[in-house]
Amino acid sequence: MPYNRYPFELPPLPYGYDALEPYIDRKTMHYHHDKHFKTYIDNLNKALSTHPKLQGLTLKQLLSGIVILPRDARTAILNNAGGVYNHKHFFEGLAPANTGIHIPGKALGALIAKTYGSYDAFQGLFTEAALDVFGSGWTCLALTNKGKLQILKLKNQQTAVEKHMKTLLLFDAWEHAYYLKYKNARADYVKNIWHVATFRQI
Ligand code: MN
Repeated sequence: MPYNRYPFELPPLPYGYDALEPYIDRKTMHYHHDKHFKTYIDNLNKALSTHPKLQGLTLKQLLSGIVILPRDARTAILNNAGGVYNHKHFFEGLAPANTGIHIPGKALGALIAKTYGSYDAFQGLFTEAALDVFGSGWTCLALTNKGKLQILKLKNQQTAVEKHMKTLLLFDAWEHAYYLKYKNARADYVKNIWHVATFRQI
């Protein structure tokens, strides 16, 4: 499993670079996937290269706190494993618009309605959280191990894994995710990304 264990490899995009146009443009996808995502992969491999004992661990194992990471490499491993985990989910979670799959599955839809009152209310809260991420980070709809939903604002490359939660929906709120097309208009990017976002099943 080269995508889940050392040496990590860049997973190919599951669709074309221009498949998310006009909401996310080809150039942004190229830089975001082939440059930014790849850099996290390369830096994670570099950080693990001198720690053979950690090389058999999966991304989740590296991030979940079940092993004590060596002090000299801890920050590099967590930042880059977080970057790999988040970007993997992010790109896998996007899909061309108008394919009829941009709504939650039946079970998740019911849980969203129960938790937030309605899908529209949830979408409003999630959008607000995405606009509210200060600096670089992510907005995540996560499932706790008690089966509850939470909207998380993750700083930098924090992940839901560190909180022992499952990622169901993830928006990249780093400027590199939208700057080429949207410049500083994060609100327009967040509004448009709903057209190409998909939810994981619960
Ligand atoms: Mn990113």
